[in-house]
Amino acid sequence: MEYKIERAGKRCEVCETSLPDKDGKWFSAIKESAREFVRLEFCGNCFEKADKSGLFSFWKRKAKKGGTKIFFDSEGASQLFYRILEQDEHKELLYVLSILLLRKHILKLLDILEEGGKKFVILSDRAGKQHKIEEPPISAEKMAELKENLLKLFQEV
Ligand SMILES: [Zn+2]
Repeated sequence: MEYKIERAGKRCEVCETSLPDKDGKWFSAIKESAREFVRLEFCGNCFEKADKSGLFSFWKRKAKKGGTKIFFDSEGASQLFYRILEQDEHKELLYVLSILLLRKHILKLLDILEEGGKKFVILSDRAGKQHKIEEPPISAEKMAELKENLLKLFQEV
C-alpha cells in the first residue's frame, strides 16, 4: 500500500491566519482520504466550527518553548499510533510508527516474540499499557520511505 503524507504550513487551513492564533491556540488533525494521510492545521475558531467527522485524529498543539532544536510533535504521533492501533489495516505504517516512537522514548520495548512464523514486538506506553505490534515483512527501502513520511508529518523545523 502506498501512503502519501502531505504537510501543510503553519497557517490555518480555513482562514489562513498564522499559528498559533492570537489566543495562542493551534489545533492539528490528520485526515485520511483514499490512501493518503493529509495533515491539517486550524486556529481555535476554525477548529471549533470544523466538521470533525472526517478527521482520522486530531490534537491540540502545545506552545513550543524557545530554541532552534528540531521539535518532534510527540502528541500528534501518539494520537496517530492509537488511531491506527484500533484498525487492522496499515500494518506497515503502524510498525514503522512504533519504531519511531520507540526511538523518541515515547514507547518502551519490553520483548520480541515469534508466533506462528510472525514476529511481534511488545511495547509499553507511558501509561504502562502494553501493545503487541506485528512486524510485517517490509523492505528496508519501504521502511525508510515510511519513516521519512512520518517525520515530515510530525517534525517541526
Ligand atoms: Zn482559522
